[in-house]
Amino acid sequence: MSDTQPRLHLHDSRTRSTVPFVPLAPDNVRVYYCGPTVYDLAHIGNLRAMLTADVLVRLLRHLYPRVTYVRNITDVDDKINARAHANGESIADLTARTIHDFHEDLAAVSILPPDVEPRATHHIGEMQDMIRRLIESGHAYEAEGHVLFAVNTYPSYGALSGRTPDDLIAGARVEVAPYKRDPGDFVLWKPSDDQTPGWDSPWGRGRPGWHIECSAMSQRYLGESFDIHGGGSDLLFPHHENERAQSMCCHPHGRFANHWVHNAMLLVNGEKMSKSLGNFLTVRDVLRDTPAEALRLLLLRAQYRSVLNFTREGLNEARQMLDRFYRALENLDPMQDPVPVPDSVVQVLCDDLNTPRALAEMHALADTAMTGDSLAAARLKAAGNLLGLLQDTPEAWFRGGAKVDPTHIEHLIAERLAARKARDFARADEIRNDLAAQGIVLEDGPQGTTWRQA
Ligand SMILES: [Zn+2]
Repeated sequence: MSDTQPRLHLHDSRTRSTVPFVPLAPDNVRVYYCGPTVYDLAHIGNLRAMLTADVLVRLLRHLYPRVTYVRNITDVDDKINARAHANGESIADLTARTIHDFHEDLAAVSILPPDVEPRATHHIGEMQDMIRRLIESGHAYEAEGHVLFAVNTYPSYGALSGRTPDDLIAGARVEVAPYKRDPGDFVLWKPSDDQTPGWDSPWGRGRPGWHIECSAMSQRYLGESFDIHGGGSDLLFPHHENERAQSMCCHPHGRFANHWVHNAMLLVNGEKMSKSLGNFLTVRDVLRDTPAEALRLLLLRAQYRSVLNFTREGLNEARQMLDRFYRALENLDPMQDPVPVPDSVVQVLCDDLNTPRALAEMHALADTAMTGDSLAAARLKAAGNLLGLLQDTPEAWFRGGAKVDPTHIEHLIAERLAARKARDFARADEIRNDLAAQGIVLEDGPQGTTWRQA
């Protein structure tokens, strides 16, 4: 990192303050994000967490020579078992299909893949090792085929989420079970019957609890101490609190995650998204009639720590912003060399990923580009690249929105050309007017006729 580069400041959930980000090892910044539990399509709330990670990792890669980004897949979970049973399909088929769809949805919105994407079922041995160590060190105990973590053996339990054990019990966020010594104790391992996926273990055939998965996989790929652990704010408690307790007790000399990043929730039309309210939106639902970049831009219009309200109007506004950016990019001279990302954009992103201000900087660049300034257009393009936006050419963008069959339009353009050659200007005008009525504008230039959406 050069001296002139802006310093990244990030909010840390554990200390509840925005602090300079100092990597443990600047030659390899290590990031872990909780990935999906693969039983259903990703919804736009999931997408917000994955996109926050994407922006963070893109910025870290801009600032540091190497970043290792790990995002897991939870492919053993009771929700998966229940869904496979309900669908009448095998767990393997359900998880393979869901992982495929998840990758496809994220790629559509230009979310880059992680460096390592470990699957929980491939790391059962690592989980069992951790559980064994926790039992040996007195932090976990066996009861009726279960292994439980004893929260009262870790004095800092609750420090990450800012809750006390009493709050946790009062909030009834813990499952009460007769075999628990303390109601706050949580499962590391649980028994499986013949119909449920299970692995042999010193505690009988069973399967891991959710929290131990992330502790084991982060340790395997990033070590006992790494830089950033992130996820949606809904994961702060109990998931991240429990991950931290397990990992800190298993590796008392490590720090687990040095810095915790949590994005705020997403509302749909001002309400919490839920299937019962009928406002539950998968990524696919939105992309059916919206360009993926518009969805990406909509999510970037709010800083990740503020609650984001998803609306159709917001989506239209995002699309209009992109129209404007792509209009500005039409001023990019094809001979113009690519330029670095403008400092002004990097600067505001380094202020706790202030994406709305980065977009404001892009609007200012677009203003200048629209005066015919090719350099400003190149800087706008570079800023877009850093944010995963403006990945199309203006021509492709303006065509992409068209509701009409492109082949049909090309056919009509050819017919119009033939009509003009035959001096049948009435027919030529008729074709132009018909297309205009469908929102298609023809532009005659030295290279022939092109079209775009109005
Ligand atoms: Zn996790």
